[in-house]
Amino acid sequence: MNPSPPAARYPDFLAHHFPPAALAEPSCANSPEPDELAWQSRWFAGDFGRNFLTTDGKPVALIDFGWWNHGAGPDFRDCVLSLDGETKRGSIELDRDARDWDHHGHSANPAYRDTILHLQLGHRSGGDWFTRTDQHLLVPQVRLDLASPTGDFQNPPPAAARPGRCLHVFRQLGFAKTIAILEAAARYRLERKAARLQRTAAIHGRDQMLFQAIADALGYSRNRLPLTVLAQRLPLKLLINRPDDAAALLFGVSGFLSGQTFDHADRDTQRWLRTLWDQWWRYRDAYAPGLPRLPLHWNLTGTRPLNHPQRRVATLHLLVKHWPTLRRLLQPDTFSEKALRRFAATLRHPYWDLHCTLQSPPSAKPRALLGKNRLNEILANVCYPLLLPNHDAAWNAFRQLPAPIDNEKTRRASLRLFSGHPDQARLTSKLWQQQALLQIYEDFCLADNSACATCPMPEQAAAPLLP
Ligand code: SF4
Repeated sequence: MNPSPPAARYPDFLAHHFPPAALAEPSCANSPEPDELAWQSRWFAGDFGRNFLTTDGKPVALIDFGWWNHGAGPDFRDCVLSLDGETKRGSIELDRDARDWDHHGHSANPAYRDTILHLQLGHRSGGDWFTRTDQHLLVPQVRLDLASPTGDFQNPPPAAARPGRCLHVFRQLGFAKTIAILEAAARYRLERKAARLQRTAAIHGRDQMLFQAIADALGYSRNRLPLTVLAQRLPLKLLINRPDDAAALLFGVSGFLSGQTFDHADRDTQRWLRTLWDQWWRYRDAYAPGLPRLPLHWNLTGTRPLNHPQRRVATLHLLVKHWPTLRRLLQPDTFSEKALRRFAATLRHPYWDLHCTLQSPPSAKPRALLGKNRLNEILANVCYPLLLPNHDAAWNAFRQLPAPIDNEKTRRASLRLFSGHPDQARLTSKLWQQQALLQIYEDFCLADNSACATCPMPEQAAAPLLP
C-alpha cells in the first residue's frame, strides 16, 4: 500500500532521544492525619519538589509527573523518573501508609503491575513493610515529608494533565497548518490500521479478520483485549457452524454463566440463562475459563451499564447471527455507511433490548444494541481503514464522524497540545482529529522521558512540514 502524501510526511516527526535527569536531596518528617486526595493534588502540583530518597536510600528524581488518574488503578500514570541513575516510566501510587498497598489489594491487582514508585504519607510503627506487585517485583517506596510543601490546600486542584511544550507552537501555527499536521497523523494511523487488518486477513482469512476487528471495536475502550481474545478463542467459523449454541459459547467462554449470576437474577433473566445453560453444559469442560486457558479479565470499573461487556457480547452474538448480511455490507466495492447504519438499527433481541446487564432490571424502553457511538468505532477502526487506501471519498466520509464523548486519553492529549488554543473545539470535535491526537500522544508524549524538554514535536511542527 502506498501511503498518501500527508501520511507519508508524518513519520518525519518521529525521532526521539531522552537523556536522564539530575538528582538532589530529600527530607523526612512526621505526619498528621492527611486527606489523601488533597495530598495527591499537592503531589501533582509539585509542592513536594522533584527529588527524594527511597526508604532504602536511593536517589529518585521526578522527570515527568504523568497524568492524574481519577479512575481505577494507580493514582498517577505515565510518570517518568530517574531511580539511582536509571530512567523508568510507569505509574505512581500514593497511600497514607505503606500497609495500605496490601490492604487495598494492589499487590494482587495486575492494574498496579507497572508501578514504579509507592509514595507514603506516613508510617505507623511496627516494622518494615515492602511494596510488591502481583508478579512479586519490589516497588521502591518514598516517604513524603509532609512539612515540606509550599502553598496551601485552598488552591484549586491542578488539571489532570499538564500542557506541553508544543502548545505555543500550535497556537502560533494557525488553524490551517495545525489541521494539516493532524490530517497527516490521522491518515498515518488509518494506514497502519489497514496494514494490521490486512496482515490478520492474510493469516486468518478476511471473515475472521473482520470478526476480530469488530469485537475489538465493541470492546472500546476498556474491554478491547478480552473481547478480541473471545473472538480468537471462538473463531467465527465455529460459531457460524453452531448457530443454536453460539450465544451459550460466547457467554460461557466470557465467564458470564455462573451459578451465582443465575441465583441473583430476576425471572426473565433466569429464563434466558436457562436456555444458554441447556447448551453450555456440553461445551463447559472444553471451553470453560480457567486452566489451561487464562480467564478473561473484564474491566467493569467506571463502565456505564449500557457499555457493560455482557451487552457487548450480546451484540457480538447478534452480528454472528446476521453475518452473511454484515459481510455483504462490508464489501469495499459496494460499501455504504447509510446501509450499515440501517442494518444496525434492525438488530433486535427480546432480552438484550431491555437489559443492560444480567443483573440490571429491565428498562421501560428498548435500547439499541449497536448504537451510534459503537457503530462509529466500527467505522473508524474497521470500515474506513479497509476502504481508505483505494477510496478517496472514504476519507471525506471518515472526516464527518463526530468525536466520541468520553475518551479520556484524547482529553489528556488535547490538554497537552491545545489547552487554551483559540480553536481547541474545532481541532478536536471530529473522530479523525481525535485519532490524530492519539497518534501524536502515543508517538511523542508516551515516548518522551524528559517532560517535553527533548521531545522533537515542537521543532518539527514549527518547521515547514507542508507547502
Ligand atoms: S511530549 Fe512532545 S508532543 Fe507531547 S506535549 Fe510534550 S512537546 Fe508536545
